[in-house]
Amino acid sequence: MKRTDFALISKIRVPRQDHWMTYCNNCFFVHNGAMTQWPFMDVAVTLPVPHSFVYAVPDYLADSCAPGMRVLVPFGRRRVTGYILRGRSDSGGYTAKKILDVLDDHPLFPENEISFFRWVANYYIHPLGETIKAALPAGLDRRDVARVFTTEQGAAALETRTLTPLESQVLTLTSGRQGIDRKQLFKTVDSVSIRSLLRKMKDKAWISEEAVLKKEAASARLETFIASTDTRPDPDKKLSVKRREILSIVGHKKEISLTALRAQVPTAPRLVKLLEQDGLVTTFQRRVCRDPFGDPVEPDTPPELTGEQAAAVAAVRDHLDQGFVPYLLSGVTGSGKTEVYLRLVSDAVDRGQAAIVLVPEIALISQTERRFRARFGERIAVIHSMLSQGERLDQWHRIATGKVSIVIGARSAIFAPFENIGVIIVDEEHDGSYKQESGLRYNARDLAVVRAGLCACPVVLGSATPSVQTSHNVRTGRFRQLDLHHRVNRHALPKITLVDLKKYSDAPPMDRIITPELAKAIRACLEAGNQALIFLNRRGFASFPACSACNQPLQCRHCDVTMTLHLGAHLYKCHLCGFCLPESTACPACGKKAVKNFGFGTEKIEALLKTMFPDARLARMDQDSTAKKGSALTLLKSIRNRTVDLIVGTQMLAKGHDFPAITLVGVICADLSMNLPDFRAGERTFQLLAQVAGRAGRGDTPGTVIMQTYNPDHFTIDAARRQDHIAFFNREIPFRQALRYPPFTRLILVKLSGPKKEKTAQAAQAAGEILTQIRDVTPDTAGNIDILGPIEAPIQRISARFRWQILIKGPSFQQLRALVQALMDHPDFQRNRAVSLGIDVDPYSLM
Ligand code: ADP
Ligand code: ZN
Repeated sequence: MKRTDFALISKIRVPRQDHWMTYCNNCFFVHNGAMTQWPFMDVAVTLPVPHSFVYAVPDYLADSCAPGMRVLVPFGRRRVTGYILRGRSDSGGYTAKKILDVLDDHPLFPENEISFFRWVANYYIHPLGETIKAALPAGLDRRDVARVFTTEQGAAALETRTLTPLESQVLTLTSGRQGIDRKQLFKTVDSVSIRSLLRKMKDKAWISEEAVLKKEAASARLETFIASTDTRPDPDKKLSVKRREILSIVGHKKEISLTALRAQVPTAPRLVKLLEQDGLVTTFQRRVCRDPFGDPVEPDTPPELTGEQAAAVAAVRDHLDQGFVPYLLSGVTGSGKTEVYLRLVSDAVDRGQAAIVLVPEIALISQTERRFRARFGERIAVIHSMLSQGERLDQWHRIATGKVSIVIGARSAIFAPFENIGVIIVDEEHDGSYKQESGLRYNARDLAVVRAGLCACPVVLGSATPSVQTSHNVRTGRFRQLDLHHRVNRHALPKITLVDLKKYSDAPPMDRIITPELAKAIRACLEAGNQALIFLNRRGFASFPACSACNQPLQCRHCDVTMTLHLGAHLYKCHLCGFCLPESTACPACGKKAVKNFGFGTEKIEALLKTMFPDARLARMDQDSTAKKGSALTLLKSIRNRTVDLIVGTQMLAKGHDFPAITLVGVICADLSMNLPDFRAGERTFQLLAQVAGRAGRGDTPGTVIMQTYNPDHFTIDAARRQDHIAFFNREIPFRQALRYPPFTRLILVKLSGPKKEKTAQAAQAAGEILTQIRDVTPDTAGNIDILGPIEAPIQRISARFRWQILIKGPSFQQLRALVQALMDHPDFQRNRAVSLGIDVDPYSLM
């Protein structure tokens, strides 16, 4: 079998009656004759095309194709990656091209997951092949990319030194043996006329273009293993001590990896070669799994459930025969939701089924993973963004080959390739991190419900602050509610005191940021030997630098936002695109060196606390302090081990951590996110405040929370103070209904962006007109669908791209979907290449 450049896993062929079966010796997947005798295959290619395509199976691949595998197929003049969806007996009247190669030894996903992928592609209006690609671990795509090379004539022309600067630049960039990717060339040569220039240079035969097959970025890791043989050493030839040592180790273990052997005999790599030449050992390659786990975890024994926990578990068990049932597990912080999840997962595994557990990224790495590992040991796979591409592929592989039956992961784990799922859990279901905001814009929380529906199994969404959407689903009878009203240790929820910031508006700056009330509470907390957490959802030192000469704020060059001073890095940074200016920058508007720093972020709080409490051990946790791999974990560990007393942090700290020694939580400014132009601003503020407050008093000492705010009377702040999500829901829901926002209507946000201001605006206008036109001529939709916009996005420019959006709103999702599809299919719209289009179904953020 031809298998040129993909890591080969050896196969055993065993005769079975009249035909051969091929086993993968790693997972024992059977590539058996019956399944693979199809002469044709339906394949979804990784291109923005709506349908799947039929390809013919050449004879030499006949016994190695199965649904769920990747194939390399010709498409137009290129080769691209595709996924086999199913076999077929005919080509359906097409002249089918041949599959060029099969890229996997066993399926990456089970056949019954394809209906889920189809659902996702259809709902989110995304091409099927690209949907599957987004679901799989990154780095598995192979395709032809256009590469540009300098020809001999081109090289000669460059020598003459009579070229324009642009021509010389292109020839220099393309001159290496590898040439350069066409896309990379476009990026490097920053000129509007690059396309026409390339055409001219090609006509002169100075450059040539070729399709080159790009390799996977992620691949299996193979290890060399050493095994003993039957050959005995020649008694006449004396073996060195080291060689004898190796033979004894290998003989004892039967087989051992080279890495393990080298740990005992450092010169093993060289000696093994010599021993192999003499036939005393053999070596072979085997796929191994990179270990993403950190420290070992002690196994735990399940505690006895509290009455409420037992009732919740029993309720799910009682309805198992009903298949798909969605639940909201509503439980205050510290009420033991995780223990309920552990029991339900354990139930599923006992039934021989698999379980998917979704957790917000940051909570996951700190403790949920540990608690699951303590209970289930190596029977879990973990998927999150702190893993390298290769580690993720390995974890995926363990799931796909049936080595594990539990996955715990961030949002992408909802696509885990399990065939038979028994339960799906979504912890902190209200969390914004379940929404993917680029490419395939999906919401993993919603997909959990969909996948559970397709698998006919229960799904449990847990939260102390359920989203308005989920609470509404309970009210309307779609979801069943399970309640945990009390903390496991029966401790009261923390006492929350509001401090009105308005009364300090004339006070010295220090008192306006850390009010005397908060300062007093911190002092008391530290004196009692406890930990305090100070929360501000804004990083950096000064969040509002402005020029004192011309009064202009210091704006990012590429985005419409003010830059933030980061003292540690001596830079002003743009939080959207990463653009930086030195701390000593002159004002870009007037050129004077008069930039003053107003506003504040976590860095400034850290500096203030340092002067106020010089003896306290201080740490800061935000995106800046945790940018390095592993640093978040180190920080969380230092909190757990109590090597810090005062922790300043952003929302990273608000999520699901369980630190018993934190007795005080201080919120510097509760109102920060409340006035954003987004209908969920209030909901998000409520959830954040209630969650951060829930970090206090989880141990034996009762907790205190000091919340500083300019709006102590606002119902969002008041509901957060009382940690009462039902009160918040009851006040919020009439607004949503009156303004026709979800959960009472459906939304699709059409996003248009482009590098040119005018062209993007025109394209947005045109798209708006097309949408209105289609709506008005379609029966039923005319009076039903609102088209809001096109308007410039609240942040008008990000990364030098101008942004416009159109919000489409209506009671019927099918109608909205059809309208957007009609826009995408419209010939006038398709011709417009100056802008790119993003479709955000059920948008989470309208910014
Ligand atoms: P939540 O997820 O609801 O915030 P956790 O699951 O983190 O709450 O539980 C809080 C603490 O209570 C944890 O330390 C957990 O180990 C402990 N716990 C949970 N259930 C029980 C139980 N039935 N008996 C004793 N301790 C429990
Ligand atoms: Zn920027």
